[in-house]
Amino acid sequence: MKEKIYTIPVNEAFEKEGECAFCELVKKLDKEVLDYVLGPSYMEEDVREETDKHGFCKYHYDKMYKAQNRLGVALMVSTHLKKINKDLDEVLKNELSEKKGIFKKELNTPLFDYYETLSSDCYACKRMENRMNSYIETFFYLWKREEDFRSKVRNSKGFCLEHFTMLITEARKRMNNTDFQEFAEVIVPIQKQNLSRIDEELDWFIQKFDYRFKDEPWKNSKDSLERAILKISSTVLE
Ligand SMILES: [Zn+2]
Ligand SMILES: [Zn+2]
Repeated sequence: MKEKIYTIPVNEAFEKEGECAFCELVKKLDKEVLDYVLGPSYMEEDVREETDKHGFCKYHYDKMYKAQNRLGVALMVSTHLKKINKDLDEVLKNELSEKKGIFKKELNTPLFDYYETLSSDCYACKRMENRMNSYIETFFYLWKREEDFRSKVRNSKGFCLEHFTMLITEARKRMNNTDFQEFAEVIVPIQKQNLSRIDEELDWFIQKFDYRFKDEPWKNSKDSLERAILKISSTVLE
């Protein structure tokens, strides 16, 4: 199946001139996915099959609970819980079976494996991941075809470290050596310049705590701490 191309959101994210266009996409997607999960979708059989199977991660249970659709969340939790209870019959039978050496200190017991898989699985995260993959696909699609888009990237403020690493890794996978070198020659200087720029902004933010500078203008530094944290850790502070 051909990957769906999302040129509009990807273009829009690069027009925003934030510290990382991909973090911008994640932020939007985070809201979209939550709206979707708590919208009428959970009444659809195929969606419920998926939520029963995967459940949600701690982050998404917290978000869902706070989003005020208690009935929707209760329905999803209820069927997921029933599935867990049923799964546990089999898992515990294996866990406690006499065939397993009870004196052997095996870490990966059936129960341990079951819990590891269950706790790292999340329907909403999976949805986000799929869409992010399409966004990455779109980025390279546009990069290859549209000068206008390449120019937006060149004029951007670079990326957070996570998404910078992702871009370089993905480019290496997708491009031949010449194209990759050309890509890196554009992206790496942008990243380095913008890390230095934010470092300077943060230095000025720190200077401003010194009473001698208190009447000086903030310049671009007022929110530089939030932006610096996003740059190094992809944390969106609100
Ligand atoms: Zn990012
Ligand atoms: Zn999640």
